[in-house]
Amino acid sequence: MTPTTELQKPIIKTELPGPKGREIIAADAKYVTPSYPRPDYKLVAESGSGVWITDVDGNIFLDCNAGVAVCSTGHCHPEIVEAITRQTEKLIHMCGTDFYYRHMPDLAQKLDEIVPIEGATKTHFANSGAEAVETALKVAMHHTGRQKFISFFSSFHGRTLGALSLTSSRAAQRKGFMRQALDVIHVPYPNKFRHFANNQPTDEETITRDCLAWIEERIFKTTTPPEEVAAIVIEAVQGEGGYVPAPKGFLQAIRRICDEHGIVMVVDEVQSGMGRTGKMFAIEHSEVKPDVMCLAKGIGSGLPIGICIAKDSIMNWGKGAHASTFGGNPVCIASALKTIELLERELVENSRVVGAYLEAGLNKLKDKYDVIGDVRGFGMMLGVEFVTDKATNEPAPELRDKVEYACYERGLIILGCGANSIRWSPPLILTKENVDVALEIFDQAIKASI
Ligand code: PLP
Repeated sequence: MTPTTELQKPIIKTELPGPKGREIIAADAKYVTPSYPRPDYKLVAESGSGVWITDVDGNIFLDCNAGVAVCSTGHCHPEIVEAITRQTEKLIHMCGTDFYYRHMPDLAQKLDEIVPIEGATKTHFANSGAEAVETALKVAMHHTGRQKFISFFSSFHGRTLGALSLTSSRAAQRKGFMRQALDVIHVPYPNKFRHFANNQPTDEETITRDCLAWIEERIFKTTTPPEEVAAIVIEAVQGEGGYVPAPKGFLQAIRRICDEHGIVMVVDEVQSGMGRTGKMFAIEHSEVKPDVMCLAKGIGSGLPIGICIAKDSIMNWGKGAHASTFGGNPVCIASALKTIELLERELVENSRVVGAYLEAGLNKLKDKYDVIGDVRGFGMMLGVEFVTDKATNEPAPELRDKVEYACYERGLIILGCGANSIRWSPPLILTKENVDVALEIFDQAIKASI
């Protein structure tokens, strides 16, 4: 059987993890760094096809995580496999830092056509999300001659030292690494389900006003004069922080602030980009045009590629200022070009339509269960926040972990984000039939966990 989207239901036939899985987990514990933030459940993958993952013991899971929002076209999409295979037969590596090949300008031109950055752009190629963010930080410093950055609480931008200076979603990511490498000040993110003052729900206008005042009335007038700020770096939808979208008016105000003070607006779309939110880029929901964008994860359908794309008036640094041996690898670019073709052909639209169907189903569960405090997001980037009850909205992280585990036991792969939320980030090929199966399992898992 070749499971793609058709297989009706997960098949769990061994204890989890099974005996072969347990062997691999033991070897991993012996030889692999213990720093990976893996969840309580242990999935040991052997193969993937479409929305289905088969583990080493032959159990088949419905994947609603897509390798953390990476396998946008599903696992081993035949057209992606073909594009990669064809490329490996011709040229695997050349090193774009020193030589030329057509892939780099091909993808850069395609991105120039589709990104919502105004005017001409230039693209730098890297290998990961964190590296794309590093590029954005360097290019903003180089362009402005300034050193300070503004980032948001609960944001995640990667773990390399520059990107880590922006990241603030968990103390474990920072602990042991001493002072920040960069001069970054963190400000509250406009999460309307949890106002930073009292951790309680509010409306978009209030949270937008209060978060903007923090920047304009507080830090600009005290610690962080705006003329010293190189860039404001923001996720249009916070990913690791809990799948929290920023209100449109907030993003528009950040654009205004950047324009007023010559600050570079960097939008990190590493997790939210490439069709995940039902538009090609999440920032398009607000009609804001950033100066710089960071892409990775979903653009390569699983192959490692990171992109920093900027206005060409900003990315106008000189020879040697920034480069990477592997960045822009031709096999990864072949995969990215095919991914964008599939996204434009049907998958962005599928993300919008089937994502709305999933969101409606999750909202029904929110009505049914007092422990679901919030359902939010766009397209196939949906967050579900668990609380002890709707009256108090007290975060329920342990319940979230239990639900995540109970889903795994029933053959559904989902993953937590933030302190007490679950993210839905399925492959963008997910069908309504897949959603029905996933929601039935999610429902059972919640029932079994409360
Ligand atoms: N930026 C965002 C918004 C992310 O979600 C992530 C990873 O989750 C990163 C950057 C870092 O990407 P990577 O893990 O590829 O370095």
